[in-house]
Amino acid sequence: MLTLTSLGGAGTVTGSKHLLTNGDRRILIDCGLFQGLKSLRELNWGPLLVTPTSIDAVVLTHAHLDHSGYLPKLVRDGFRGRIYATAATRDVAELILKDSGFLNEKDADYANRKGFSKHKPALPLYGVLDAERAMEFFSTVPFDKAVQLPGGATLTFRHAGHILGAASADIEWAGRRIAFSGDLGRYGDPMLPDPAPVPEADYIVVESTYGNRIHDPADTTEVLGEIVERTVKRGGTVVIPAFAVGRAQSVLYHLWKLKTAGRLSNIPIYLDSPMAIDATDLLHAHSEDHRLTHDECTAICRIATYTRDVEASKEITASPWPKVVISASGMATGGRVLHHLKSFATDPKHTILFSGYQAAGTRGRAMVQGAREIKIHGQWVPVRAEIDDLSMLSAHADANELMSWLASFERGPSRVFIVHGENEASAALRVRIDRELGWNATAPRQDQVFDL
Ligand SMILES: [Zn+2]
Repeated sequence: MLTLTSLGGAGTVTGSKHLLTNGDRRILIDCGLFQGLKSLRELNWGPLLVTPTSIDAVVLTHAHLDHSGYLPKLVRDGFRGRIYATAATRDVAELILKDSGFLNEKDADYANRKGFSKHKPALPLYGVLDAERAMEFFSTVPFDKAVQLPGGATLTFRHAGHILGAASADIEWAGRRIAFSGDLGRYGDPMLPDPAPVPEADYIVVESTYGNRIHDPADTTEVLGEIVERTVKRGGTVVIPAFAVGRAQSVLYHLWKLKTAGRLSNIPIYLDSPMAIDATDLLHAHSEDHRLTHDECTAICRIATYTRDVEASKEITASPWPKVVISASGMATGGRVLHHLKSFATDPKHTILFSGYQAAGTRGRAMVQGAREIKIHGQWVPVRAEIDDLSMLSAHADANELMSWLASFERGPSRVFIVHGENEASAALRVRIDRELGWNATAPRQDQVFDL
């Protein structure tokens, strides 16, 4: 008997972990970290519904932390199977997981120095060494080629167009075919391939981040150009919190388009995130997985000044001249962008431009919803800058694009499971699937078991 259980990413956009069980064999699709609301983050510390030693394999759809960030803990807690991912996902995951281990260690260290943890001493969820150890369990799988998984399952990865290396996972097991969308990207993206159609499936597990939203159809480059130009006219700086992998490169692409059209001349652009710099290098290493030529990659990388060390980062903050600063993290949950927000959020001449989905409980969500102050490093910071939210810059398909991907199946499934969305988004997508495709769709609750 095959069953499906979501151990995360159900009713929320973070913590993606979907478990397929066939007798005593288990395959986990994605192994993400919960982020945002404290009640969710605390789940990272609790036990999983199944012991990590009992899981035979992990299939990783893409490297974002909310899909990969629990892997070091899974390995530390006894998982000894293989982690199947595309080659680009493996490389991007290495950056993201090591950075996550480093940030976890830094946070625990900070809590110990300030004495504000109830645990003495506060320990990180995992550290850099745990992240390095997890990398030893990866096995790379090419796109569009069926491979055998333990327990007799077959896996085929297809392009999902979300970030470099991102895939949908088509799994056949025990006479059933289950398609996991992973995170789906946008159609017609200048950098990434379109989400590829899957021929057929008995069950579809689909993300619903923007299940209730349609992205603004305006030209992204143009809108970005207008925001930067009006901010510069006020003598201000544009701070763009961006996911280091994916959004940072996408923002650079649009800025490069503007520069080549003769706009934004003399306006310095800074990419202030060591991880984003390394991720940009990966575009060269995985040229078959995106649409840019080698020369375009080089040109795009060259328009920004890269700052690896903290001192250079502080100099950017201190400089009074108009500029564009791209810095992680994308939802302003941590990282260097917090220092920029402390300096630039307080003055109406500056702009804070969000470029991706802002999960509940994050500073980013608070700011796009109009918060007048945010707390950074224990201090309240007034928000007076212009706040923009360019969802069309997002790496996620909107509701129409999710429907297009579903409609590309040649045969309707028995059932669709709607995951990776907050409740309103999942509910809205369920209504559309029912109305437009006539398919049976369910938004699972965490840990709910479904027979397939
Ligand atoms: Zn993602």
